[in-house]
Amino acid sequence: MQWSHEIILDKLRDIGILDKFYFKDDYMLVALDGTHYHSSKNISCKCCQSKTNSDTGEVHYYHSVITPTIVHPDIKKVIPLMQEFISNDDGKDKQDCEVNASKRWLDSFNNPTNKKLIILGDNLYSREPMIKKVLDKSHSYIFVAKPTSHKYLYEQIEMIKNLNTIDTKIISKMINGKKQIFTYNYINNLAIKNPQGDTQHPPQEVNWCEVIVTNATGNKLYHNSFVTDISLNVNNVIDIATAGRSRWKIENENNNTLKTKGYHLDHNFGHGKENLSKTLCSLNILAFLFHTVQELDDDLYMELRDNIGTREEFFVGINFLTTMFNFKSFNKMLEYILIARQTEENVDMKGYIM
Ligand SMILES: [Zn+2]
Repeated sequence: MQWSHEIILDKLRDIGILDKFYFKDDYMLVALDGTHYHSSKNISCKCCQSKTNSDTGEVHYYHSVITPTIVHPDIKKVIPLMQEFISNDDGKDKQDCEVNASKRWLDSFNNPTNKKLIILGDNLYSREPMIKKVLDKSHSYIFVAKPTSHKYLYEQIEMIKNLNTIDTKIISKMINGKKQIFTYNYINNLAIKNPQGDTQHPPQEVNWCEVIVTNATGNKLYHNSFVTDISLNVNNVIDIATAGRSRWKIENENNNTLKTKGYHLDHNFGHGKENLSKTLCSLNILAFLFHTVQELDDDLYMELRDNIGTREEFFVGINFLTTMFNFKSFNKMLEYILIARQTEENVDMKGYIM
């Protein structure tokens, strides 16, 4: 099932939701990440990915998907975009992977806004081919870059640190009544990988920053480091690091919500022969998008969600009501729930149901 980014983003812009997600007026942050949505030891299809347990020889089949998500550092909610499946259906022997699926998503995405996309990704993304792909599409990127997987990059950083010539910005903030010190170190124009003597094809240049958060006694509370194409300076390094940190929202607010907050994305709803599990996954993400839009724009829905405990409890209530009664419309059902909750006496359902 394919939905169109253009239609969704145009609608979100028309109703004023998208504007709230623009970052620093000129950008929109889109985080990419992969997640599983079906797994089985018995059922499989040609699209399944598989993993074999080296001890037991047991094969584990699974399906996974890239869930691109618009995030903003100051907004708890996220906007899910159309997914790209990680799927072995192209007849190739080599298994499809998260990075290849992300590249396909970048090829399929036509940005209908006049904002530049900044693609956010974890350490898997901060490799030269992915960086080149993002730049080819005229987007920017902020990717996590860990020392353990970027040896050459960190050799250059260590050298500059040892010379005491690294640029630094330090600020302190009171968070929950306690002082925290944020140290931002940054260096521009580093090589992402060892050129290995190839003067014809110099490695991709990246700009690097790290953020270290300590408490008043100097204990480290948080540390992360990023590479980006955006030239870093004393005025923008905090914004870039903050945007990079907001990547976690795709895991916490998007994928975790889809798995544990009432959508059960990783529940095996059904595998089918070819496309059922993909269709169910698409519908699940689409439902989450609709609910997110309602939570951001529909006063009645927002009031109900504030009134009724968890998302899961809310869904259970709606499931019960729609099973038992034939409401005139979705809005009529929401009105009925709200009035029924606010009134001590029984509410006459006439006027709400068919
Ligand atoms: Zn399958």
